[in-house]
Amino acid sequence: MAKILRVNMTDRTVKYEDVPEKYRLMGGRWLTSSIIADEVDPTCHPLGPNNKVVFAPGIVTGTNAPTSGRISVGGKSPLTGGIKESNAGTGFSQIIARLGIKAIVVEGYPQDGGWWGLHITKDGAEFFPADEYTGKGLYEVYPQLFERFGKKVGITSIGIAGERLYANSGVCFNDIDNRPSRYSGRGGLGAVMGSKHLKFIVADGQGAHGVELANKGLFNSGRKMLTKALKSHDITKPGGGLNTYGTAILVNIINEAGGLPTRNFREGRFEGAAKTSGEAMAELCKTRGGVGRMGHPCHPGCIIQCSNVIPNPDGSELVSVIEYETTWAFGANCGIDDLDVIGKLTWMANDYGMDTIEAGGTIAVAMEAGLAEFGDGKRAIELMEEIGKGTPLGHILGQGAATTGKVFGVVRVPGVKGQNMPAYEPRAIKGIGMTYAISTMGADHTSGYTIAPEILGVSGKVDQFDKNKAELVRNFQYSTAFIDSSGHCLFIAFAILDIAEGFEGLIEECNGLLGVEWTAEDIMNIGKEIINKERNFNKAAGLTKADDRLPEFMKYEKLPPHNVVWDVPDETLDAVFED
Ligand code: SF4
Repeated sequence: MAKILRVNMTDRTVKYEDVPEKYRLMGGRWLTSSIIADEVDPTCHPLGPNNKVVFAPGIVTGTNAPTSGRISVGGKSPLTGGIKESNAGTGFSQIIARLGIKAIVVEGYPQDGGWWGLHITKDGAEFFPADEYTGKGLYEVYPQLFERFGKKVGITSIGIAGERLYANSGVCFNDIDNRPSRYSGRGGLGAVMGSKHLKFIVADGQGAHGVELANKGLFNSGRKMLTKALKSHDITKPGGGLNTYGTAILVNIINEAGGLPTRNFREGRFEGAAKTSGEAMAELCKTRGGVGRMGHPCHPGCIIQCSNVIPNPDGSELVSVIEYETTWAFGANCGIDDLDVIGKLTWMANDYGMDTIEAGGTIAVAMEAGLAEFGDGKRAIELMEEIGKGTPLGHILGQGAATTGKVFGVVRVPGVKGQNMPAYEPRAIKGIGMTYAISTMGADHTSGYTIAPEILGVSGKVDQFDKNKAELVRNFQYSTAFIDSSGHCLFIAFAILDIAEGFEGLIEECNGLLGVEWTAEDIMNIGKEIINKERNFNKAAGLTKADDRLPEFMKYEKLPPHNVVWDVPDETLDAVFED
């Protein structure tokens, strides 16, 4: 029987609890958001004793369902002041699930100054002192931990950004090659973990019982249908778009659409786009050789494999992974067109334990403030070093783009609820702008990836400038909340939106594992339940409709090349969830 592992940092005790009936069918985001809504006072200070961090593998995580090694991390966000779920792909999630752990709830507050790790095996969980690993980069300490605990463990951790309680700190997980490179990056949950002085969780799956299947035949039938869909869709299949060029295949596509935010959201096209694209990364891997590789999985069992390993000129490893959001954040958004510089900045963010989207957005706002020229890669690296060293300027930058903008009097700060926007210009792509505005998470493209129909033509093409997208935005948010709960990577959405058997396969997998009879309608209702819980939490935390808005400058600054402003009426935004 699966258990909830409750970790109390006040008295450093652990307890395995039976899973309450109300949580029995839940996983991933459904479970993290439900526990946070049930157990955390929405008005609490995010870094105080009453906040919690919850880790939950998805419903089918730990099985051989394709591309299903996701873990959700939840808590009250120090960046947005609202509820947060941020998920990552990692073998850590699969180990936790196979150990029969449905969720890890970290609570309480340390009574002394030390730092701690938690070592989980099939026999239980024990704390170990972690002070010797603090104040150092994660690229230095991860190999030490794998040496100590064995190469097959999974590790989640915070870096120095989390130790210093920076609001742009992420929660780091190991990738398939044990790098500290997969992040539940958004929303500053690393700082919440840091406030509890929990530096690591190490999970050892040796002898684990595995995940129980209520109806193995049904589960396998669903798994096969979903696998077939993923292997046949142009975006997700082996040799398809994501596999060949990674997520950064989007750079040229979004640039062409005039929606690639450039130089802190001043323009929608970047002259250096091609040099920072997935195609350019693939070319680097080819010409430099060495360890360079596209088509890399972030965890065992991913068949899409959109990750990459980018080589230095001598073929040694520069960094893994440069995602679309990352090459954009440090690239177009900072006016930088050099993949070696972008790779270095990405490595630094991984090493410090930071969200690359927020870090790039912060440097862009710092450039806006005159701390560097747009396009100055050397100076961008120096600004990141300030964060690493923890200088007074580094402390400001570490708190993210909104704080940096306030300190330096910048008006053009492109965020929602204090979280910097990702790599799609809302003035040029209205549906994603609506998603940014009303998401419970702050500006977040993964809350409802309407780019699929608006730009990529997945599930039918819609006009990127059309403002009547309330239904589209609502349905994407509901269905995404379910995918985030299933344990699958959000990228299965391309295949299940276009191929009906793929969607049926997803439902059958869940039904087979849980012994239920969910329908497509149930899936949407679960998504709706999750969003409603999150919205209620945010309301109780003090967020209002005024927080469901894009920054004012987007209403009066025309965005080239289409020369468009943000013109979706507030009433349309408010109507999205008024059903
Ligand atoms: S598709 Fe990419 S991000 Fe998703 S699980 Fe696979 S490698 Fe990770």
